[in-house]
Amino acid sequence: MSVGSNGKNTLLRIVNLKKYFKVSTGVVHAVDDISFEVKEGETFGLVGESGSGKTTTGYVVMGFYEPTSGKIIYKNTDISTHISKRPREIKRELQIVFQDPGTSLNPKHTIRDIISLPLRVHKLVSNEDEIDEEVSRLLNMVELPSDFMYRYPREIGGGERQLVAIARALAPRPKFVLLDEPTSALDVSIQAKIINKLMDLQKKFNLTYLFITHDLSLMRNVAHRVAIMYLGKIYEMGPTEKFFRNPLHPYTQMLLSSIPVVSSEEEKLKPKGIESRGEIPSPMNPPKGCRFHTRCPFAKEKCRQEEPPFIETEQGHLVACWLY
Ligand code: SF4
Repeated sequence: MSVGSNGKNTLLRIVNLKKYFKVSTGVVHAVDDISFEVKEGETFGLVGESGSGKTTTGYVVMGFYEPTSGKIIYKNTDISTHISKRPREIKRELQIVFQDPGTSLNPKHTIRDIISLPLRVHKLVSNEDEIDEEVSRLLNMVELPSDFMYRYPREIGGGERQLVAIARALAPRPKFVLLDEPTSALDVSIQAKIINKLMDLQKKFNLTYLFITHDLSLMRNVAHRVAIMYLGKIYEMGPTEKFFRNPLHPYTQMLLSSIPVVSSEEEKLKPKGIESRGEIPSPMNPPKGCRFHTRCPFAKEKCRQEEPPFIETEQGHLVACWLY
């Protein structure tokens, strides 16, 4: 593993990743040449509206789709393949928590069956007693009682189901967890509890998170670094503090200016004069040049013709926009 500028090891490296889907009417450019790194023990937030390509990026990292081109490097190993072709140890180390535990947990299986499946697949238990012990430990780790193992997903609440999904993801002792909008299907009252639990577990087990969300304000509290995706490309990336104190890209500014705030201090920090406008164009036919130009109040002719390069404006803070 390479060591990044903050001294932490780089666990995952995405290099010029593309993922296109052929459909009957053309080609969807879901992810179109993105590069970023995730360091060991950090939360990297990948933010974007629906259709930005953030979830496709996550699914390519997990191996649910093969990339069209580009590389995914995990701990110096090239894993740019479908999950079925990856070494068992790497499959164990990369796990996912899906958005909706209502659909990600098999309703016909007990919680014991659900949590023990990865333990059996990865041969981490050798008999039924060990399964009971390990499932109980995992349930307690997410603050659920041991006797939950005899219930079915329909018999517990939405927040509890997501805690079970987290216990299942952590069962094979992963190093990297993809969190795919893990709270957006849940009641607001339990979202904070799930986030706090995820943060506790990260500290306890030095987990690395790739956190995919449409909720930029959530990233302010949980991510160490944030990247914004729009129509398959990353347009701004940086350490969370710099990113929120000094958002550079007009799209980031537009998203931040539409976030509701609760205090006058937060209101002062909001970018002024960039209002949300227009709809995200189709990824089947992304605009030429800067893909944001159809919605950008600062668009010039050059923006409509030439794609802006990704440049570093200060250490670790990168932006792709002709204004810089
Ligand atoms: Fe706006 Fe041009 Fe910057 Fe794109 S490159 S965000 S259109 S100013």
